[in-house]
Amino acid sequence: MHDRIHNFNPGPAVLPLSVLEDIQASFLNFNGSGMSITEVSHRSKWFDAVIEDAIARTRRLLGLDQRFQVLFLQGGASMQFAMAPMNFAPAGQTVDYVNTGTWSTKAIKEAEIQGCTVNVAASSEDRNFSYIPRELDLTPNAAYVHITSNNTIKGTQWPAFPETAGVPLIADMSSDIMSRPFDAAPFGLIYAGAQKNIGPSGVCMVIVREDLLERIPAGLPTMLNYTTYVNKNSRYNTPPCFAIYVVQLVLKWLEETIGGLDQMDALNRRKAGLIYDLLDRSEFFRATADADSRSLMNVTFRLPSEALEARFVAEALEIGLGGLKGHRSVGGCRASIYNASELAAVEALVEFMQTFERRHG
Ligand code: PMP
Repeated sequence: MHDRIHNFNPGPAVLPLSVLEDIQASFLNFNGSGMSITEVSHRSKWFDAVIEDAIARTRRLLGLDQRFQVLFLQGGASMQFAMAPMNFAPAGQTVDYVNTGTWSTKAIKEAEIQGCTVNVAASSEDRNFSYIPRELDLTPNAAYVHITSNNTIKGTQWPAFPETAGVPLIADMSSDIMSRPFDAAPFGLIYAGAQKNIGPSGVCMVIVREDLLERIPAGLPTMLNYTTYVNKNSRYNTPPCFAIYVVQLVLKWLEETIGGLDQMDALNRRKAGLIYDLLDRSEFFRATADADSRSLMNVTFRLPSEALEARFVAEALEIGLGGLKGHRSVGGCRASIYNASELAAVEALVEFMQTFERRHG
């Protein structure tokens, strides 16, 4: 009816169809304003309602208390790699980072550029980042401990968050925010580019605990200082209004259609389980991540040869299963099955995988 494919892209990624239809239906005249959401002022009552609702829903979904501020920034998660150390570990302090792949490596590089002493508390590089390390060598008085909660490229995810004995946790949750419930209390900072689980590209959700704001040194550029966004409710300058609006709609869908993060988690487990069960049974497909570290968001796997992998990706697309090629840095195949990826899409993929194995295995 919509000529839409089952979209397994890693990000920008699939959005709930009902959200896209809502956008379409209200695109020319937003809430009786006589203007499109792309035409209203970011200081208008129409946009006030959008951003306030997005913040309130984030607070409810994640169970955030008043100590946490919810902000919307530009520059993607990549800018947070620099802002976190710049704001929270000034003057050469020691910071702990767990290196679980490409994005953690980039975060570490930015902390080094900021002049931090980086202690890599654990790394899974020895086995090509195919697992989440369990033993961490933490610095007792580190400014913070940084982790990447879900490793989009390597297909691993922290099953539970590490104990840090009161040192604030900082997490890049770009590829699994809002996919499962967790206790936010140990976190000083959470950031997530919206374009995987909560919206389109162009906005990064940032959740910051107020006590960390006291550490921010004087003299930072205004736009790189978290306080600027806290004090001006993310509107010191013109924010990405349309992207924030889509985030609001996705969060509404999560609360009202899905029913919250417990329900989302159950559905995500069911979806990922269908693919991992097949991978575990198969002698043709092979999962690349260790069983105890597997991502529920990005399922990475290999076929017996690169030629078969190319054929798999191409034939899948012919029947409307798109985006299954692994990241260019690792090769192989990857099914990104974020919140909005429907059970029916995963079932169609599993069926195709079985057929492909029968024909080529
Ligand atoms: N962190 C993770 C875990 C990611 O998956 C990505 C994007 N794929 C990034 C950071 C970079 O995000 P952005 O493009 O928003 O800077």
